[in-house]
Amino acid sequence: MDLGLKGKIALITGGAGGIGRAEAAALAQEGAAIAVNDLDAQAAESCADDLRAKGFAAITAIGDVSEPDGAARVVRLAAEQLGGLDILINNAGAGGRHLGRSVEDMDVDDWDVIVRTHLRSTFLCSKYAVPLMRDRGFGRIVNTSSMNVTGGGRPGVANYSAAKAGVLGFTRTFAKEVGGCGVTVNAIAPGYVETNLIAGFSEQQRAVITGQNPLGRFCQPEEVGAVIAFLCSKQASFINGALICMDGGKRDFHWGDA
Ligand code: NAD
Repeated sequence: MDLGLKGKIALITGGAGGIGRAEAAALAQEGAAIAVNDLDAQAAESCADDLRAKGFAAITAIGDVSEPDGAARVVRLAAEQLGGLDILINNAGAGGRHLGRSVEDMDVDDWDVIVRTHLRSTFLCSKYAVPLMRDRGFGRIVNTSSMNVTGGGRPGVANYSAAKAGVLGFTRTFAKEVGGCGVTVNAIAPGYVETNLIAGFSEQQRAVITGQNPLGRFCQPEEVGAVIAFLCSKQASFINGALICMDGGKRDFHWGDA
């Protein structure tokens, strides 16, 4: 099936990470030119190199998309170097040491970093990208929410759950604002995907996830990439303001002592 993505220009924030790379590969495979954003310049270069080695068009747009100047610069860089912007995938994410503490024990910095990285970046990149899309009469914005919103997160991730719930609320309102100019805005809610973001999970936690999911496994980044490519396609033209759950059928895990 031709998804109608040949010649489209896509910016993926956090594009050097596990899911971002798979999204970049899926969109490139369909003929889109890719701007790989990340804080990690080396990882972004390696992602763009991999794409170019396969004959795809790819550049890097390094910067912190959670800051107004950074997000504006990244969007501008992508559009200037590739000749416009049709697709924005708001994917940048952080976790690690900022997760795992109860609300009572959570540092204000842990709250701020997580909300800024996931929610503020989504607002900023969308704000700067949408005028470019409106000019072209076409746009696709896909935001990254989480199963933590549809099912409730495990204890210790209130900051992450709040940020991802914010992403969903933002998506639904923004979709109403820009739908009339050919731009759709949707969100995905992946379950646990095998990437660095969950590298710190214990064997016990991994067993809870695979044991309780009807599919008996983690989601793979390529499975997210495929959904992203579809949401950006011409075929998805009437999907707007939607949340696409991809959690294998399990949203709320019983953690016990894990
Ligand atoms: P990852 O850690 O592999 O990738 C995230 C990338 O974002 C990293 O390369 C990081 O350098 C980059 N990044 C962080 N802050 C940034 C900033 N301010 N500006 C630019 N880049 C920045 O994680 P992942 O699993 O690929 O996660 C991608 C997205 O998917 C995140 O939004 C995450 O919350 C979401 N998600 C992940 C899972 C999962 O289980 N892995 C589940 C649901 C949702």
